[in-house]
Amino acid sequence: MKYLSLMLILLVSIQLFAQVNHRDSINVVHYDLHIEITQLSQKKISGVANILVAPTKANSSAFGLDLQRLVVDSLKVNGQIVSHNHQNDILRFTTAQSYSNTDTLSVEVYYQGTPGKDPGGWGGFYFAGNQAFNMGVGMSVNPHVYGRAWYPCNDSFTDKATYDFFITTQSDYEAICGGINVSDTLDSQNNRVWHWKIEQPISTYLTSVAVGDFEQVHFNYSGIDCEIPIDIYCSASQVGSVTTAFADVPDMMQIYENHFGPYPFSRVGYSVVNFTSGAMEHVGNITYPNNAISTALSDQTLMAHELSHMWFGNSVTCATAEDMWLNEGWASYCEALYVEGKHGYEAGKAYSLSNHIFVIQRAHLNDNGFLALYGIGHENTYGSTVYKKGADVVRTLRGYLGDSTFFAVLKLWFAENEYSSKDTYEFRDFLSAKTGVDMNPFFDTWVFNPGFPHYEISDLLINGTQTTVKITQKSIARQFMGDASRVEVTFFNSSKDTVTRLVQFDGAHGTASFTLPFEPEFAIPDYYCRLADATIKAEKVVSGSQQSFSGVNLVVYPPLTNDSAWIHVTYNYSKPEKYGQMVGDIELTPLNYWKVDMIPYGDFKGRTRFTRQLSNNPIDSTFSAQMKDSVKLMYRATVSEDWKSIPTILDITWGSVAISIDSLMAGEYALGIKRYQVDVPNFVPQKCEITIVPNPVKSVVNFIFGETACSRVDVFSLDGALMTQIKVRNNIQETLDVSEFSAGTYLARFYNNGVSLGSDKFLIVR
Ligand SMILES: [Zn+2]
Repeated sequence: MKYLSLMLILLVSIQLFAQVNHRDSINVVHYDLHIEITQLSQKKISGVANILVAPTKANSSAFGLDLQRLVVDSLKVNGQIVSHNHQNDILRFTTAQSYSNTDTLSVEVYYQGTPGKDPGGWGGFYFAGNQAFNMGVGMSVNPHVYGRAWYPCNDSFTDKATYDFFITTQSDYEAICGGINVSDTLDSQNNRVWHWKIEQPISTYLTSVAVGDFEQVHFNYSGIDCEIPIDIYCSASQVGSVTTAFADVPDMMQIYENHFGPYPFSRVGYSVVNFTSGAMEHVGNITYPNNAISTALSDQTLMAHELSHMWFGNSVTCATAEDMWLNEGWASYCEALYVEGKHGYEAGKAYSLSNHIFVIQRAHLNDNGFLALYGIGHENTYGSTVYKKGADVVRTLRGYLGDSTFFAVLKLWFAENEYSSKDTYEFRDFLSAKTGVDMNPFFDTWVFNPGFPHYEISDLLINGTQTTVKITQKSIARQFMGDASRVEVTFFNSSKDTVTRLVQFDGAHGTASFTLPFEPEFAIPDYYCRLADATIKAEKVVSGSQQSFSGVNLVVYPPLTNDSAWIHVTYNYSKPEKYGQMVGDIELTPLNYWKVDMIPYGDFKGRTRFTRQLSNNPIDSTFSAQMKDSVKLMYRATVSEDWKSIPTILDITWGSVAISIDSLMAGEYALGIKRYQVDVPNFVPQKCEITIVPNPVKSVVNFIFGETACSRVDVFSLDGALMTQIKVRNNIQETLDVSEFSAGTYLARFYNNGVSLGSDKFLIVR
């Protein structure tokens, strides 16, 4: 599924119902659902569910089914009326005799009423205009599986069954379900009964119905195994736009069948409904919003995302909500696979890398913290980590295994596990068994731990064609250091010849020596961007006009000559080496740093502007910089050199830095802070007779001098930044408005005519 409102997930109220075990006591073999949906304006349905049930245990006589809100009139087991109890959305009944796990029971439930919706506003059963339809996932209900909104069922990710739907509509309406349309016939009341059949076992949340005045748009597709019909149902006024917008669905099918193997169901279908908040991958009948019918890339990737779920989620289903990345992370990566298949490898890579930028910059903010992909809590099952970071990690898995192994093992995964439910551990172990690669380190690094690894070249020795490269792994927003890291290093010479070698290592450091076909000038780790590590990379050939490098906070203004340059920028979400070091009176900050590699042509000089927000984004480091006018740019050409301060043109505003240099050079760039008092970082107050009140303080602090003569007060943040300097005019006390200062500890240092009197700390609270 894909929802279009990110805010929705933050607003939903979470309803966690008491854990119930009734779902484990039965397996449903088959559902016959006879549902009358003729009263659209009254928002009512009525139905008879014939459910073929197999107990999972011997001596079973107490059973339960899920059914939300709807009213049960009667219940029969094997044709005999049995009393029932319908409370808290669980329909319980007890049979007179006991059944064994080799028996099957025919359970018949007569029910009616107004079906419910997810309090989170997404899933459930909708009456919208002249249509009625369901959305099978409830983002705020527990479990998220949401068949119980419209029929009694065993609502779980793991209990899969086959289905016959007999949907009664007014004679001039259609009912569309998943699977194959067996018949439509008029009944004695001149209503139409639509019979649809799903022959493959599926989970309840993947069943669907859409009732409306629909037209059919049909496409032919010759699949790997057979002809597969593609039917799009929409209102008459949408036929033209649907015919254009969905024309690439056969191409999507071909791309996915080539990658994952034969389409696992009998028909491809979409029903366009009166809904505007996303789409849902119901088997063979994707419920699709009426505001996404175009050839725009975002609409095409929405169609592709839902279609790919037929493999990822619908054929092999996540075993629990904690495994949701197996559904949604993969379907999100399949968007990029579609773009790649349709528009070429570079287009697919660009799609993936813009997702990576989102992951690094936003996913943890949207989900209120850095989360591991596996084991995500109920409130974030459908959050950015699962979708976006999930896709980023799938991209990394592809790079780790290589294309041929990656796609071959996926084909095996679907061939050997179709119509089942699997968890993350089973997936990991399947990959290990089939590829011969121990996938434990990969899953520990990318799936089971929050945050990111960060890889950089920490040493590079070039001696002719003999090179030794050292890679350092850092841990970003995690307490974990991964093993079996695989980092490609691409070596460049000044003609932009390249050669790539793999460095594989355990732990924090890996060193490898190579004999190369040419003498390299420099090297870039993971130049082909196969890793979702804590870097963002961008490259361009610049000449003549201003070029902004996407995601890396850097703009180059080349000279108005014919000179040009190839420039590659890595923005590192990690602290520069030797941060904290003082260079004169400038301290190298622990903020993110840039690495620039370039090949200039002619006498290239590019004025370059580095920017960064001094945000509260935790991956940006929590270093607070309120040191107006004290930001410097630090530079070193190679990792073996010392950092130095370089001349800049500074343009700083409260909360952001923009700092420019006249001519870009290859090397590392980091921010420095000019310290005004080199002894301040020690922060040892030297008590004097001056009093600070109130302390802690909220808005105005008073420095009471008493008998002590004081002419100046300097106030420093704990970073050592000079916040303000007060020239004392009143020799009894001075006041300072601190309402614009951040909360935290500050140091006040007192002077009389240049002679230090001592210092003291005070605390600002909010
Ligand atoms: Zn999805």
